[in-house]
Amino acid sequence: MLDDDFIFDLYRLRLPPINEARAGWKFDHDAILAAMDELQLKFPVVLRFRHYKRQQTTGWRTFGKHGMRENYAMGIYHEIKINDALSWIRKIDGEDVTPGKISWILWHELKHAEQTERWAEHYDKSPFRFYYEAYHAHYAKGKWGATYSQNIYELDANEFADAKTGSLLVLKEN
Ligand SMILES: [Zn+2]
Repeated sequence: MLDDDFIFDLYRLRLPPINEARAGWKFDHDAILAAMDELQLKFPVVLRFRHYKRQQTTGWRTFGKHGMRENYAMGIYHEIKINDALSWIRKIDGEDVTPGKISWILWHELKHAEQTERWAEHYDKSPFRFYYEAYHAHYAKGKWGATYSQNIYELDANEFADAKTGSLLVLKEN
């Protein structure tokens, strides 16, 4: 018999149907649920693998993506996409893909999920407005002429992910 908590957890966090990244890791359902509790996320999270173009040359910290989605079955939810190949990490860092690096990216994206929810609650607005009204707002851009990496929400997510170093959200596949 499945208990209610078990069913609720399956609704709250959805992993890709085949939880195997090409780079040899998988999402840790329990660890990610605990992270969602810590961040007090109210909307469910759907995780997907993302296949980036090989030629992409931007920094490795950009290789996850968070957005708000809505459909009839789920209602409003967070969609987080993580690159599951990550050959670019080797190119940039000269290092292998590690559970620590993937976890860093996922902590970063979960922080964006939290920023979105807290902003929406604070201003009593739809979470779909976060990226339009807050993230891309002039005040959020950082120093004049600053790049994406100086965005205050990016700095906050980076700082948070840095503080989570060693706290793994993915497992190595055997
Ligand atoms: Zn980010």
